[in-house]
Amino acid sequence: MTEPTGPLPAPGPPPRQCSAPACTAPAVLQWQRIVTDAELAQITLPPGETTANVAVFGCDTHAMSLDSAAYLHLATCTWPGPCTCLTPAATP
Ligand SMILES: [Zn+2]
Ligand SMILES: [Zn+2]
Repeated sequence: MTEPTGPLPAPGPPPRQCSAPACTAPAVLQWQRIVTDAELAQITLPPGETTANVAVFGCDTHAMSLDSAAYLHLATCTWPGPCTCLTPAATP
């Protein structure tokens, strides 16, 4: 919806690679996490901003659930390791 219009080399967005270490599979899901202090030191923030988010990509194997991906994850999120950002919802 906010994507700029213009000629594209191929239909659809280019495939992104999974963010998991040593994984080269194409990503099927994307979510956001807060940057780490180390990452924050390497980017220039807009005035007034104190933090930023980065996109994380997961392949079929490393993608989290859609529900989890809808949330902003902490900088300490170690996905595809155990994700401790979200407290499990109490399911009746
Ligand atoms: Zn993967
Ligand atoms: Zn997380």
